[in-house]
Amino acid sequence: METNSTVKSGDDPVRELVPRLGKKAYQHQGLARRRAWLQERTGVRLEHVGLSSIDPGSMRGNIENPIGAAQIPIGVAGPLMVRGEQARGTFYVPMATTEGALIRSYERGMVTLTRAGGVEAVVTASQNQISPSFFFSSAVQAAAFGNWLQQNLDSIRQQAEETTRHGKLLQLECRVYGRQAIVNFGFDTGDAQGMNMIVKATDHACRWIAEHYPVESLHLFSGMCSEKRASGFVLSRGKGKWATANALLPDSLVRAYLGCSAQQLYEVWHATVVGHLAAHAVGYSGQLANGLAAIFIATGQDVANVANASAGLTDFHLTQGGIRVSVTLPALEIATVGGGTGLATQKECLQLLDCLGSGKSTKLAEIIAAALLGGEISMGAAIASGEFATAHERYGRNRPEEEESKV
Ligand code: NAP
Repeated sequence: METNSTVKSGDDPVRELVPRLGKKAYQHQGLARRRAWLQERTGVRLEHVGLSSIDPGSMRGNIENPIGAAQIPIGVAGPLMVRGEQARGTFYVPMATTEGALIRSYERGMVTLTRAGGVEAVVTASQNQISPSFFFSSAVQAAAFGNWLQQNLDSIRQQAEETTRHGKLLQLECRVYGRQAIVNFGFDTGDAQGMNMIVKATDHACRWIAEHYPVESLHLFSGMCSEKRASGFVLSRGKGKWATANALLPDSLVRAYLGCSAQQLYEVWHATVVGHLAAHAVGYSGQLANGLAAIFIATGQDVANVANASAGLTDFHLTQGGIRVSVTLPALEIATVGGGTGLATQKECLQLLDCLGSGKSTKLAEIIAAALLGGEISMGAAIASGEFATAHERYGRNRPEEEESKV
């Protein structure tokens, strides 16, 4: 079908806003009306975008101007044996992706880890943050403010926690930069990712601070907390869950399941040190973002948090007769309540892992860390054995038809 996707909106490009539709905004009828409105303007028929089993009413709070849903294939990788503090047992991990070879790669790593007796995983910290900045007329005044904050921590905590039942203000860290004080508000957010929760709580606390201390000006966001950004700050300070996973792989198992030796796997890891340094990479890893994005999409996490969560460290150590492998994710912002976790397919995927609802976020973090370790050893092995390109050639190609015929 010939289409013209250039919007025809006359001389003023903002003359026509997308219809708001009032009460019908989150009803099937409302979504259909918006699609029809778009088709009229662009000529594009949104047949598949409109095909979704998600109740439009459940989209409220997750999206504005809904027209349907993006359908991303979900595959499953496993079995993955996890020996975490909360995640104990064998899991099949749902992953949503359009990258061929990705699931096969993770599956191979997970099977190897499971054959080796499983992955130890642990969450060592859980603290989400937001870092407002406060301005004064001098550095001395900014430093004095830092002292006042610590003396008034109890009152500030009381103010912050007035807006939330689950959020707990754990600490305030003040850093002074000239006349500016950047204050990191660190919260335990329970099983929620927590950004809505802590923005509201911090805003409330900051208003109280401004009433009780002569602040020249303040801004809720300074950029330091690195929400949805990879940074040295999140790598060393952490954001959300700090999860780490490790396993010991005998050389015989590496050879049998990964097609290379433990020594070769170790050498590949070393061969990428200089490249990472030269690139000023934030963290040191193989394909953390791949597994994070696929699991985040499947389980209703905020996918943009892949930016900070992928600032992680993969480490391989040769041992007598094998290799010890680990992954550390200092900035794993995830949820088992709130955000996108209540939507229909996302909920089912969380249920697959027994990770839906209150009391499950640490378990989910441990499973994710273990799953990502599978991807790291598999990618390292693919490079070591020379199969990296051929695996993608076998599983991951979708050339347009006219190009396919030339190959
Ligand atoms: P939310 O969906 O806005 O709220 C979840 C709420 O669930 C919590 O506030 C809490 O209410 C309640 N809750 C029930 N059981 C809980 C439990 N066991 N543990 C913790 N909370 C529980 O989610 P959110 O986590 O605050 O925010 C996540 C969303 O924020 C993400 O999906 C992301 O898209 C979005 N986001 C917002 C910003 C921003 O600047 N506001 C930035 C980035 C991302 P109580 O607070 O009353 O306890």
